[in-house]
Formats: sequence, C-alpha cells, structure tokens
Amino acid sequence: MTAMLIKGGTVVGPGGAFAADVLVDGEKIAALTLPGTAPDVARTIDATGRYVIPGGVDAHTHMELPFGGTSASDTFATGTAAAAWGGTTTIIDFAVQRAGESVQDGLAAWHAKAEGQCHVDYAFHQIIGGVDEASLKAMDSLVADEGITSFKLFMAYPGVFYSDDGQILRAMQQARENGAVIMMHAENGIAIDVLVAQALARGETTPVHHGLTRPAALEAEATGRAVHLAEVARDVPLYIVHLSASGALEKVAEARDAGRNVFAETCPQYLYLTLEDQLGAPGFEGAKWVCSTPLRSRHEPHARDLWKGLRTNDLAVVSTDHCPFCFKDQKELGRGDFSKIPNGIGGVEHRVDLLYQGVVDGRISLERWVETIAATPARMFGLYPRKGVIAPGSDADIVVYDPAGRTRISAGTHHMNLDHSAWEGFEIAGRVDTVVSRGSVLVRDGAFHGRKGHGRYLPRGLSRYLI
Ligand SMILES: [Zn+2]
Repeated sequence: MTAMLIKGGTVVGPGGAFAADVLVDGEKIAALTLPGTAPDVARTIDATGRYVIPGGVDAHTHMELPFGGTSASDTFATGTAAAAWGGTTTIIDFAVQRAGESVQDGLAAWHAKAEGQCHVDYAFHQIIGGVDEASLKAMDSLVADEGITSFKLFMAYPGVFYSDDGQILRAMQQARENGAVIMMHAENGIAIDVLVAQALARGETTPVHHGLTRPAALEAEATGRAVHLAEVARDVPLYIVHLSASGALEKVAEARDAGRNVFAETCPQYLYLTLEDQLGAPGFEGAKWVCSTPLRSRHEPHARDLWKGLRTNDLAVVSTDHCPFCFKDQKELGRGDFSKIPNGIGGVEHRVDLLYQGVVDGRISLERWVETIAATPARMFGLYPRKGVIAPGSDADIVVYDPAGRTRISAGTHHMNLDHSAWEGFEIAGRVDTVVSRGSVLVRDGAFHGRKGHGRYLPRGLSRYLI
C-alpha cells in the first residue's frame, strides 16, 4: 500500500484543535501520531503552520439540473472538479423524480449522468416531485437497497415540484416508518405565484422583484407548517434546506427547543449577500443572484440571525445549493420577466473559504467551521464516520488549509463552468492548500492532479444526528 504522511499541522475537528501528524495508508487514514513520531513513508506533505481538516461535505448541489427550459451549467465532471479545488471532497446531489415519472427512472437518470464523471465522491438525495402510491413504495426500496436515506419535498414551485400538505404528510409518514429524513423547500409557493402574477401585471419585471415577491413571511409560514406536519407524522426527522430568514429560523429554533428532530441548513449567499446590494443591482445584472429562497434585505437582521443560528446549532449545516446558470443565454431567458430567470447560484467551489472568513471575522469558532462544513453534514446524512472526520479508519479525505494564504474569488480564476461569479471580488484571509480524496492528492501547489472517474457513488446509511 502507498503510505503518505501529512505532518506538522494542526488537526481540527468539532471537539478541538491539536498538533498531530496524519498517516494515510491507501485510501484510509491509518493513524494520528504525536508530531515527529510517525515512521518514514514514501510521501510527505508538510502542513507546518496550517490546519488539517476533513474534506468538505456539501450536502446540497444540483449538477446538470434541468430547470426553466435550460440545465444547470456544471456537469458532474466540471462541478466536482470545482468542488475539489475548493476543498470539498463529497457532494450530495439531488436525483429528481417529476410528477408522472417513476422514482426509479429518475434515480437511474442521475446515476447515468454521474457515473464515471466525478472527481470526488458523491451521493444522492431523492426529490419526490409526485407523491402517490408508487413513489411512497419506492421510498422504502431506496432506503433499503439504494443507499438513499433522505427525500426532498417542495412547498414551492406549483406545477413543477410542488406537493400539497396532504402529500407532504403522506411522504412524512412513510419516512417515519423507513427511517429517512424529510428535506423541505419551505416557501409558500401558492401565495408566491399570486404575488408574482400581480407584480408582472404592474410591469415590475426586473430581477429584484424575484426577491420582493418571495417575502420572508412566506418562508416562515411554510417552515412553521412543515414543522407542524412533521409533528403530526410522529416527529419524522425534518431538515429545512437553504434557510434564509429570521422568521423561519425562529420556527426551527422553537421546535428544537422543544426537543424535536428538526434541523436546518443555510448557504453562504444568505450570510453575505443581500437583496439590495446584489439582487437589486442596476438593469438586469441582479439576475446573477436570482435563487430561491431569495437573498434577504440588509435592512432586516437576517444575516446577523443566521450567524447566531450557526453558533447555537439551530443551523447545523452550511451547504451551497450549487445550481449555476450562465448569464449569457441562461439567466438572459428572464430579460423582461424575472419569473423566467433560472433560479440558482454557483458556489460549490467557495463554501469552505467563505465560512473560514466567518472564523477570521470572529463569527464562528475554528471547530464550528469544520463541524458545519464537514462533520455534521456527514453525520446528518449517514456518511459518518467514513466522511467528515480525521480519524483512523475514515476515508483519507483531507484538506490542508493555510490561514496565512489569501483567496480572491473571480470568474476569471474559478473552475466552475460559469461565465460570472456571484462572489466576484470577494477576498478571503485563508486558502485551500492541499486536497486529498481517498488518499489521492487532487490539488497541490496550485495544480490539479484529480481525474474524472476517481469519485465513487456513496450509498448512505440512516442519519446519525437524531435525538
Ligand atoms: Zn436546491
């Protein structure tokens, strides 16, 4: 077996940071040793002055997602290469079942897109776009046989992915029996569609109206409704995706304070970007930041509250909701009608850096950084301890992070297949130095050594994060 030693660094996990050398044997971490005591090995990576953290786990990506008459611009090949560049070594993407299509066919289509294409390991959640007898039954077999233990439902997008409350309750009851987690896009899509039609009738067509027609109150309402429906389904584990607003966070916090299995993620865009500064950019520029849930107003305390939620664990995970659409020919489909702008921001490459900036700014601790970007998503979605931790027996997915480095984000230098960056000009006081996936060095000294097909499908177990 080929052995590798990552030496001289500070290993960081949720439980603390300590000096240790990390011995890798083949695809696995073999041991953590006192600095300087490991045997001589074939390859050494000097991590002096740097952090040694588990490879990032991004639990929310949409590679090649068909949406609004086009498809997300990153393939599994380009998107997972970009993920690796940014220190993310596992993605969990969303296989899609649309109404009228079988769940198994939807899943097979996703396997076909990803197989042999990925640079890092990948797993799937399953979107249930049509809750009926067949799809409810399919949920059981996905949990038992396919390693898919989480199902996403939508309270938004009527006519596309939307489930009504009865369908949601039935899917929750099914998950309560088979042990899966229900993930929820919590926005009241029926009410939003009324506001969208009214805005367009008034001639309000620019990108900022995407945000103005999706008010925070309708995210809070849907989040609260999902929490109560989950309660009726005998406390099925509920995970709110891309939580963006204070009111929705309050609903999650209240349920958690009551001891419920209710969890939530947020995304970097809600921590740093706003409705006024980005979505409200002049002309059609704001289209770059059209995503759902939308960016929130800087005049309200959403971002402050989300950082607080990250500290208190009312927000357990930071994912990207990576769903890139190019400005040219894709975002431009919505010129003159904001409702036709494909929804999504590309960010799979930048999550580890953007959250590290939260450490630099004193908003979260070093340990909390690693917990929210790697350890908790692995535990939440049944990948732990294979992923999300630097420990003997775990996959050797390791990032050496340089706190003395700098990262400047730009479309000119990023690796996503995307003609602009939602983060153009952002500077981070830190830098991904080396990225290792199952013992293979993917990124080192600013060069990419990964290969398409290295990434493997990860069948997942049940959540290890429940009360
Ligand atoms: Zn999403």
